[in-house]
Amino acid sequence: MTTTQPETHGHHNGHQAAYQDVYPKVRQEEAVELSTVRQLDAADPLAAFRTRFAPTPDGLVFLNGASLGRLPAATADATDALVRGEWGDRLAEARTQWLDLPQRVGDELAATVLGARPGEVVASDCTSVNLYKLGAAALRDRPGAVVLDDDNFPTDQYVLTGLAEEYGREARVVRTDPDRGPQLDQLRLAVEGGAALVSLSLVSHRSGALADMRAVQEIAHAAGALVLWDLSHAVGALPLRLTADGADLAVGSTYKHLCGGPGAPALLYVREELHGRLTQPVQGWYGHREQLAMRTDFYPDPSIRRFLTGSPPVLSLAALRPAVRLLGEAGPARMRAKSTALTGLFQRLAAELLTPYGFRLAGPSDPAERGGHLTYAHERARALVPLIAERAGVLVDYGAHDRIRVSPAPLSTRFEDVYEAVHRIHRLMREAPEGRPRKERA
Ligand SMILES: *Cc1c(COP(=O)(O)O)cnc(C)c1O
Repeated sequence: MTTTQPETHGHHNGHQAAYQDVYPKVRQEEAVELSTVRQLDAADPLAAFRTRFAPTPDGLVFLNGASLGRLPAATADATDALVRGEWGDRLAEARTQWLDLPQRVGDELAATVLGARPGEVVASDCTSVNLYKLGAAALRDRPGAVVLDDDNFPTDQYVLTGLAEEYGREARVVRTDPDRGPQLDQLRLAVEGGAALVSLSLVSHRSGALADMRAVQEIAHAAGALVLWDLSHAVGALPLRLTADGADLAVGSTYKHLCGGPGAPALLYVREELHGRLTQPVQGWYGHREQLAMRTDFYPDPSIRRFLTGSPPVLSLAALRPAVRLLGEAGPARMRAKSTALTGLFQRLAAELLTPYGFRLAGPSDPAERGGHLTYAHERARALVPLIAERAGVLVDYGAHDRIRVSPAPLSTRFEDVYEAVHRIHRLMREAPEGRPRKERA
């Protein structure tokens, strides 16, 4: 579903074009020397953001930002201030100031990383629960099938097929090539005859393949369906413009590229024009029109609050805030420009140094067609990931289907870190008997 015209994603703007010059494209045919990458670091306008994170243990190169983003230096102080200063000192008095925290943090997410309007986003619950609420909201609103794909994160598939069963709908599962992401022609077939809901990830958790938001929506809307995006691997990895791109519904993790911390509440976005007609099935007091009136009957609030249920995870919301502000300060367009330069550099070096050892780039080869991570297929991926951590001090991630996922977070990773990582993995593969291709070991 990726396209060769990045403009159609709606993720690119004039600012970003300017930043592309700051991070020159690594030419795939040219040799890359250590001095070259050091020049890139010296010219990097985001370089200073590295110090805004708690340092990694000495010698480790962290390339696993897609699993759990690193700890911002300001986070511990923010949670401490809330725990001691608000809960500890102000006792139950403090409660009232947390009532609208999901909306306040939601508005910050909307403005900094989602390109949404105030009042369209809350931060609450986990991604699975938010997916359930918004999927159900669509099915309560209109008849028809649920369309999903088999490459999505398993929890999405569980929730969506469960919803189809609960609401007596057909679940149409698109077969997706795990290296390419869902394809538009398959989607067209899947929505034939009409549908109620299409739910896909904008960035594939495995391959990193980036879907074409507008094209998907056009196909879904023509079939009468609402589109529910999972932004778990997109938010914080690339600039989003949910309002301008006409997104209906979205959910997503905030602890991956967004660095919100373990257990960070997920985002939930509903386009303002849909608030009036959509309701969700987990009715609770946080969604009530008169929350504190303690009425016995339920009337949903007219605003985004109708998608909330109960008490928010206040400590986790406090931990998420410094991360959102940090990303907002850096600017998603600038981060995206550096991110594609970092993954482009990894790709360039790996093509030369790791291909001979059985690493094959799986997923789009053009950084503009993927999110903030890239994925390598290797027949011994499962065994290699811990080996690379222990022996090379490089932290990457294992994914299903013998894939190794590499995600260099743009705010905390230097070009030299990427250079160092590929060379260390290369040395490991060359030296360790278990690292070498099977035929060489014999
Ligand atoms: C990480 C991730 C989730 C996580 O769901 P939780 O309910 O928050 O644990 C869901 N969907 C996708 C696509 C993800 O990448």
